[in-house]
Amino acid sequence: MLTPSHLRLLVALGASAPLLSAPADPIMGPGVSRQLAADRSSNISGVRYGLRLTVGRTDLARGSIRVQFSVKQASDVVIDFRGPRLANIAVNEKSVTTEFNGAHLRIPAEAVHAGDNVVTADFSTPIAAAGASIIKFHDDKDGSDYLYTLLVPSDANLLFPCFDQPDLKAKLTLELSVPERWKALANGITDKVDTAAGMATYRFRETDPLPTYLFAFAAGPWKSFTGGPRSTTLWVRASRASEVEIDSLQSQVASALTSLEKYFGVPYPYQQFQYMLSPAFPFGGMEHPGVTMFNEETFIYREPPTLNQRLGRRATIYHEVAHQWFGDYVTMKWFDDLWLKEGFATYMAAKMQAIESKAAPAKSVAASINPWMSFYLRNKPAAYDVDQTAGTTPVWQQLANLDQAKSNYGAIVYNKAPGILKQLNYLVGDSAFRAGLHQFLVTHPYGNATWEDLLGAIGTAAHRPLLEWGKQYILRPGMPVLEQNVDVANGKLRRLTLVQHAAQALSGAGVWPMRTEVVLWSRGKKAQSIPVEIRAETTIVAAAVGRAAPDFVFANANDNAYGLVMLDERSATWLGEHIGEVPDTFLRAMLWGAMWDLVRDARLAPMQFIVTALRELPAEQDEQIASGIVTRLSRAASNYLSTAQQAEIIGRVEDLLLAGAASAERGYGLRKNQLDAYISLARTPPATARLAAWLDSGSTAGLPLRQPTRWAIVTRLIERGAPNADALFAAETRHDTTANGRRSAFVAAAGRSSAATKAQYFDRYFRDTTLNEDWATASLRAFNTADQSALTLPYLVPALDSLPWIQKNRRIFFLGSWLGGFIGGHKSPEALLEIDNFLNQRQALPADLRLKILQTRDDLERTVRIRAKYAGSGAATSTQLRH
Ligand SMILES: [Zn+2]
Repeated sequence: MLTPSHLRLLVALGASAPLLSAPADPIMGPGVSRQLAADRSSNISGVRYGLRLTVGRTDLARGSIRVQFSVKQASDVVIDFRGPRLANIAVNEKSVTTEFNGAHLRIPAEAVHAGDNVVTADFSTPIAAAGASIIKFHDDKDGSDYLYTLLVPSDANLLFPCFDQPDLKAKLTLELSVPERWKALANGITDKVDTAAGMATYRFRETDPLPTYLFAFAAGPWKSFTGGPRSTTLWVRASRASEVEIDSLQSQVASALTSLEKYFGVPYPYQQFQYMLSPAFPFGGMEHPGVTMFNEETFIYREPPTLNQRLGRRATIYHEVAHQWFGDYVTMKWFDDLWLKEGFATYMAAKMQAIESKAAPAKSVAASINPWMSFYLRNKPAAYDVDQTAGTTPVWQQLANLDQAKSNYGAIVYNKAPGILKQLNYLVGDSAFRAGLHQFLVTHPYGNATWEDLLGAIGTAAHRPLLEWGKQYILRPGMPVLEQNVDVANGKLRRLTLVQHAAQALSGAGVWPMRTEVVLWSRGKKAQSIPVEIRAETTIVAAAVGRAAPDFVFANANDNAYGLVMLDERSATWLGEHIGEVPDTFLRAMLWGAMWDLVRDARLAPMQFIVTALRELPAEQDEQIASGIVTRLSRAASNYLSTAQQAEIIGRVEDLLLAGAASAERGYGLRKNQLDAYISLARTPPATARLAAWLDSGSTAGLPLRQPTRWAIVTRLIERGAPNADALFAAETRHDTTANGRRSAFVAAAGRSSAATKAQYFDRYFRDTTLNEDWATASLRAFNTADQSALTLPYLVPALDSLPWIQKNRRIFFLGSWLGGFIGGHKSPEALLEIDNFLNQRQALPADLRLKILQTRDDLERTVRIRAKYAGSGAATSTQLRH
């Protein structure tokens, strides 16, 4: 239930104000408009900043700035700043009348000379746990405070007055004063530290040219470790320093640097490589040269990691290191080309690991992992999930104002973009791809470029025009679906066709040109691979005709194509019975994905999928595949079934997961995945009683019980309203008094099945300035647990109404988590109707927010559709379950 205070709150937050306001002034209005950026980059050059800043334990930083720049013509110059105070403004050493409106400072043309100019000013900017450009983290364990900046995409102008746009790269000289016992690091090398009056002043060397969003510093009682094959420096907060796997991080960073230098033929382009583990970091990592940041929570393991966790950490390291060239050295001109850096960083991360894995000694761990399989698992399902919705966007995303840049982040740039680059690499071949990248980098050193520049460079190297390819994959929204049609007669293939169509009408007509590999597979025989070029709606695979009918066909072997493969019925039926018999792990992983796509498209009954998963999971030895099966099995069992179907099957799913977790002959990662799934799925009274008993025993299914798992158990018991959940929660809170314990308690309590709890949390999400985003994000799932959809349904529309506020006040990924939480907690037609009514009634909702809602709505719409089709069909599966 919404209390009146919430309604007032949303009005007070101005949640709907942006819908009503008149078009903003493109120059002096909020944010940085495309026009302002274009005007400035055509007139201004040679930008240098001299920044002096004093930070400490207070919640305000004070500073002074010297902006030096050249203009071609003397005209008004606009500088961006939205901190609380700007004073003592001088232009070319004279005090001038300027206009400052809280977003921009306008310097009149009379005060500007053609040629060199200097603007100086004093200012202040906030320091806070959330919502500031300088993030403060308080370490409960030792009482220390840590500060770090995070300016991407548009918060540099919250930190200091600047031209906040990526194509006015500048050199920054930073002088940072911090409390004497603190350490500080920044983009440039530390040249000198002076101490006086209890303060230490760090003078950093002038940086190489950087876009404003890459300026960064950190301050606090950090510990540092220099070493590893490349003599890199790792910074970490003192209270967690002993837990860091320093050697392993240092060697991964070094091999990423070396592999990328070698591949690109361009040496590491900055003064130093330092990196830090940032506490309560809202992203996985951030590529600031000299201060590359990683998420402390995912980089230090609180319990032994699974393979997926290790691979994820490694992929993040390679991603951020790849950015030093793609994003940092050559930067997009404007955030419409965000995909250029994100797509490349992820693609290159996999490519470098694949090259290293090939070179590794046979039978070593590195040689046993196929980075392309992890690349597929980490990217393709996520990309397809968004790209087949009505909320999708092109890879290149128009952006009128930098203050909407946050909306451009998401699966399209992070997961689709690397996927289409894989297709591009496959299309032009390895040597042309590499030569094109080298040319692209050396043509724009420390500069800016666009997607056309990139395709031009690769196209030239490949002697192949790529603009048409770019139109289809970069400018056109949506994605292709490939339908397999197999016609078999007398044990032979009579016809095999691939029919391409768009997943959504919004893509319009036309064919995505595609190069793919079709595999014909039969048990006991060598798989036959047929390369196919797709240029028309229907492609006849002529080379397949007359061959022996295979057990199954799959039209995207090795994952080179970007497209959703819909299995033909014959192949799907065989795989439903025998998928575990396919020995090639990469292919098997993709086949599981294709089976799941049939479920999501309401072509295969979820119960059918569950039957296959229950049969195959115990024998699946590959940890990545098993974890994918477990996720889908859990989702099918908790979301896609009717109450009666669920009652029939849930105990079997629980038992299977428990048996897998307890199976002593299986590896740790396999067991831990199933244990985690068992805990978050537990529904039946025996299962929840077992969870409660584990808390006393110190072990779970034979695995040692560590703190994160204890909290997962407490959270689940609270969500289920287990009889003694409150007492167990209180005991756990007393037992674990660490900062992480307080975070976990906050998350667990969000799962209480009480209207008062939901009201209190919803209020805190907006009002509590001490609540950091990491905590808020972590709690959204428990708040919206599907078991309590009746309690959370009243918050669905208010959650949607608050999107403009969230977009303005929260960091990049929060909005997606928010929507995923509030919409993801529902599976009913009523919830879907609420969303649709909202979309109909709020015609003035900004387009980017509407699309974000549509992206998340899609999964609910599928859930409703799947349940309508299959959840009524009762318990007809008992016989199938026996084998
Ligand atoms: Zn990135």
